Parts: sequence; C-alpha cells; structure tokens
Amino acid sequence: MSGRTPARACPERTCVGCRERAAKSELLRIVAKEGACAPDPSGTLPGRGAYVHPALVCLDLAVRRRAFPRAFRAQGPLDTQALRRAIETADQQAT
Ligand SMILES: [Zn+2]
Repeated sequence: MSGRTPARACPERTCVGCRERAAKSELLRIVAKEGACAPDPSGTLPGRGAYVHPALVCLDLAVRRRAFPRAFRAQGPLDTQALRRAIETADQQAT
C-alpha cells in the first residue's frame, strides 16, 4: 500500500477497555513503569503505550481482561492503583 488516506489528520487509537476506536486526543495514554501502569497525559513517556478512555468503566474492563499486561507484553500483573486514582480524578472533573 502506498499513498496517504486523504484528510483525517487526527490519528485514531483503540481503547483497551471497551475496544472502541477514538481520536487519540480523547484517550489517555498508559505506559508500564516499574511494574505499574502509569498515566501519560502528555503522551511523551518512552516505551510501548496503551490507550484507554479516561473513564473507570473502561479501566475496569481493561483490568478484567488483562489488557494492560498484554499490551505491554509484561510477564506479571501490573499495578493499576495510581492509574485508577488518576482516572477517578479526571472522571470527577468531567462531570
Ligand atoms: Zn473505552
């Protein structure tokens, strides 16, 4: 395949929770850091990233289906406490 898709400058990513596609700007980037899932709101942290809606329903779905260890190719479970707190805060600000 060559050439570009016309228009549509905004990149899309898939939420690892609900599996829906959304504009990258609507999703929260997550990276694995020291055995934990770390939110990366600025999208600048190095390493493999996963994207999730900044909503607890999507986080819960992602945790239940072990989407984060899979996305990061981690050997063991990843801690999501800090991430959950960050999303809780974002969730409250949104409503
Ligand atoms: Zn989602």
